[in-house]
Amino acid sequence: MNNLELWQSVLAQMQFHISKANFATWFQNTEIISKDNEKIIISVPNAFSKEWLSNKYNKLILKTLHDIDDSIKDLEFIIKPNPAKNIDFKAVLGSEKPEETQLKFDEFKINKETNLNPRYTFNNFVVGSFNELAHAAALAVADSPGFNYNPLFVYGGTGLGKTHLIQAIGNKISEDLKKKKVKYISSEKFVSSIVSAIRTNSMEAFKASLAPIDVLILDDIQFIAGKNKSQEEFFHVFNSLYEKNKQIILSSDRPPNAIAELEERLKSRFEGGMIADVSLPDYETRLVILKTKLQEKNMELPEEILDYVATNVKKNIRELEGALNKLLIYGKINQTLDLETVKKLLKGFVFSPFDVANYKKIIETVAKFYNLEEKNLFDPTRRKEIVKPRQVAMFLLRKELKYSFPAIARKFGGKDHTTAIYAYKKILQENEENNKLTEELNLIKQRIYSG
Ligand code: ADP
Ligand code: MG
Repeated sequence: MNNLELWQSVLAQMQFHISKANFATWFQNTEIISKDNEKIIISVPNAFSKEWLSNKYNKLILKTLHDIDDSIKDLEFIIKPNPAKNIDFKAVLGSEKPEETQLKFDEFKINKETNLNPRYTFNNFVVGSFNELAHAAALAVADSPGFNYNPLFVYGGTGLGKTHLIQAIGNKISEDLKKKKVKYISSEKFVSSIVSAIRTNSMEAFKASLAPIDVLILDDIQFIAGKNKSQEEFFHVFNSLYEKNKQIILSSDRPPNAIAELEERLKSRFEGGMIADVSLPDYETRLVILKTKLQEKNMELPEEILDYVATNVKKNIRELEGALNKLLIYGKINQTLDLETVKKLLKGFVFSPFDVANYKKIIETVAKFYNLEEKNLFDPTRRKEIVKPRQVAMFLLRKELKYSFPAIARKFGGKDHTTAIYAYKKILQENEENNKLTEELNLIKQRIYSG
């Protein structure tokens, strides 16, 4: 790949992350002017661009470059007033009318009242066995908010459609039942509002601002764990909405009973409604998702290429979408796209279990999941809260990485390898008998494999 092709691939990727308008503003007349060993020099037309790109997009550009060519480790912008001639920006941006392309390439306007993104609807949400329960519950809630399932609690790994689904509920309610006041808030924002209300002594005003809401959607509620003051205030907010039959919708990366440091009373409130998970789509569904996205954009790709993408990009739906966008933009620039190029372009997306799951990742993920420090897993103790996570870690090393039992034993302080065999068998057996453990293992694996 020469510098020009390299930069085109980067641009193709960047366009997926930022709006068309921004893309045109910041990337027009940029090019790679040299690549020596690990460093890439990019020329930009003026100081303004330089400042913007290096402050806002430096990391993303570097990561994108690195994904394509992992020898690249650094990057620098220099000002070069002469415009780059080699890249046809018209081609990158397409020749459609601006409003039309804007819609095709995302970034709809977020509604200021509801905070909802109108892009997330039920119409463009693909349903398969991996998410049908959550989808059905979401539809039921959208039909009669406050009465069917309250709260609705949707959980699953990143990029699997939680935000899309819970926003779709909000969008449908706002559309069908215009009088209902819907509010979507990320839990991060929610917590910071509570913190600042406490600091400025304006908790009552904050609560009053939530009182008229009919449908409260809180995304990534696991974020509230361990934040005691926020949990307490949220508990009161929850109760006062709930008592008035207001609908509450929550999403999280794991089920309530697996959120450590979540107050018991909140846990039981969350468990009092409907809990539904979203998991990973299978090959067939990945193909349907790709085709749906293509249709939305009014574009086409050969079946052979779609098959390659659906077979190989397995991490989550966000990645699937990213891969597709990358191909579409490359196709637009170059007017052709063959399977060999696709393979090259998607190098960073293609999933190989051995690339993602490694010893470090397993230990790190298991420890984090059980809210332990990594070193705790190696403590020579029989305490239950340590023994189980340790056995899970041993089990995963065997199951996912095919470590030998003696190798596992060595990692865990040179114990007799029968301990490792025992751990493996115990988890294997319990996995069959105990749904909670199965669920935990699934979530841990999802995390290991989703980066
Ligand atoms: P999460 O909140 O679980 O991390 P998102 O809802 O942000 O995931 O989804 C990531 C991307 O994948 C979004 O662009 C979303 O539109 C898309 N997506 C997720 N699930 C689906 C689905 N079932 N059908 C169509 N697109 C989906
Ligand atoms: Mg989300």
